[in-house]
Amino acid sequence: MLLRLLGRVGRSTRLRVFQEQFLRSGRSLLMGCEIRDFHLNNREMRRILLAGAFALSAIVPLSAPANAAGSASDIVVIDPGHGGKNAGARVHGRVEKELVLKAARGLADRLQKSKTLVPYLTRWDDSFVPLSDRVLRGESVGGDVFLSLHADNVRRVRDRGVVVFVYGMNETIPAGPKREPGEKKLPPPTLSARRASTRLAERIRLNLQKHGIRTAPYVDKGRFAVLKSRQMPSVLIELGNLRDPKEAKLIESAAFQERFSKAVEEAVSAFLRDEFKRAGK
Ligand SMILES: [Zn+2]
Repeated sequence: MLLRLLGRVGRSTRLRVFQEQFLRSGRSLLMGCEIRDFHLNNREMRRILLAGAFALSAIVPLSAPANAAGSASDIVVIDPGHGGKNAGARVHGRVEKELVLKAARGLADRLQKSKTLVPYLTRWDDSFVPLSDRVLRGESVGGDVFLSLHADNVRRVRDRGVVVFVYGMNETIPAGPKREPGEKKLPPPTLSARRASTRLAERIRLNLQKHGIRTAPYVDKGRFAVLKSRQMPSVLIELGNLRDPKEAKLIESAAFQERFSKAVEEAVSAFLRDEFKRAGK
């Protein structure tokens, strides 16, 4: 317990330093993407984060106060589905990889303005990222939660709105694409990781409803490779069905994306607050 707390405080401090640095330089808080551009592997990334934190802690005041729950900067990993050679769903001129990247950036902008959440995107542009790498990238920056954004293309138009998934068996949903050559095979998440993911998923689903966004009446399950983290509670969010022209138009609207981002921000904040309390018991 104490170790967990110390780990959290250490990480928060480190992140606050980076937050300050990026605010000062007027650049994005999405530092992981910037570091990624230099093609650093995870070990190098960690080394640089630590070395940078030590160097900066001497010159940058840590002004951001810890909130009541004790965590100052929780990292929200946002994973825009598909990208590059994998376009995802393509319906009536709409392309899933583009739509979800836009939604992910909108959500990141929103989180960036919050005092306690730091967004990290697994892809910032139209690049192809293997599924396991998305999880590993999130874990390498110490992600606290992992949110993968997608849009459906289901044949039968079902007017069901947003569907939130956690890792689990579901015979009706295929396991997803094969691994890329050299891609790491991740073991399935532990029971406690899955339970935490379900708590996060349910909170997001209910808060979307609270903000007037229609959702499926339950949290769904699928064996998606991006939901395999054992460290980060992970959910996959299908924003809507692109086959339904009305729904497609709705989810790409600025009004929807604003409401969606607000609802997710609130849900993630409340979830992390509760999990912190839970860990403190
Ligand atoms: Zn997708």
